[in-house]
Amino acid sequence: MKVGIVGAGMVGSAAGYALALRGGASEIVLVDRSAALATAQAEDIAHAVPFAHPCQVRSGGYERLEGAAIVILAAGVAQKPGESRLSLLSRNAEVFAQVIEGVQRAAPKAMLLVASNPVDVMTEVALRASGLPAGQVIGSGTILDTARFRWLLGDHLGIAAQSVHAYVLGEHGDSEVLGWASARAGAITVGEFAEQVHAPITEEVRARIDEAVRRAAYRIIEGKGATWYGIGAGLARIVQAVRDDQRAVLSVSVVTPEVEGVRDVALSLPRVVGASGVVATLAPDLDPSEAAALRASAEMLKETALGIR
Ligand code: ADP
Repeated sequence: MKVGIVGAGMVGSAAGYALALRGGASEIVLVDRSAALATAQAEDIAHAVPFAHPCQVRSGGYERLEGAAIVILAAGVAQKPGESRLSLLSRNAEVFAQVIEGVQRAAPKAMLLVASNPVDVMTEVALRASGLPAGQVIGSGTILDTARFRWLLGDHLGIAAQSVHAYVLGEHGDSEVLGWASARAGAITVGEFAEQVHAPITEEVRARIDEAVRRAAYRIIEGKGATWYGIGAGLARIVQAVRDDQRAVLSVSVVTPEVEGVRDVALSLPRVVGASGVVATLAPDLDPSEAAALRASAEMLKETALGIR
């Protein structure tokens, strides 16, 4: 499967590298406003291919995206000193309008996988600009927050993260909601599991895990300026679910008709991802505080998206 990546910065190139290592694509094409950067990143990633899986890695203009089944959108502009969040968002929305026009000239049917932040709002912008069905404009959303949540729960319970089924819902950002009420380990609730292995989830444990998931990006940014490996791997995971029609349940962001009374808002819920994109959305059990937090997250995202119309 041919995969395009627009925006060959840290996130775009990390996605390309993860795809190359995982064998997630037969061809990867990198496009960037800076042709020199796209070329350099493609060459660097191509040199990992002999140690991984056969794959063509190229760079070029939008015309090179012809035939791509999926295009990752990782382009973005940085915040200017003193610039408001809304102004930055408006500038990024303009970048997306140009980028999507370029992508669709070459690959009108390509599914779009949005990585640029704030990812939920950019997913809505991409949906509006593309005219594609909602299930084919997918934001990486909380895929990474969910991975962090599972890893921390698995660590506490002494089991593999893969045996934990728990999701982070809502915004990929400060208002996100850790779905404790629906979290399962093996086939039982994480609370019951924790009792059985004598590692109870006390208020303190819960607060520590919540904080660690919610603040992870801030901590990484403090140490290295930005985050890219985790999200790169998450993007490659989504591409593989599409390529192999896996129907994997992943927490990704798409514009959703109704969430806790809020209409047409992009945010993350557990969704079934296959060859035609998001084919179903699940409604996890929520306790009253989680439902209220999810509603607040949805309202905030809706308001932000309306602000850049
Ligand atoms: P991140 O950490 O999110 O990847 P970067 O600044 O490293 O952020 O990467 C963003 C990339 O998006 C840059 O390489 C930049 O050149 C690219 N970019 C910005 N605007 C456009 C555009 N209109 N078309 C294509 N690429 C763009």
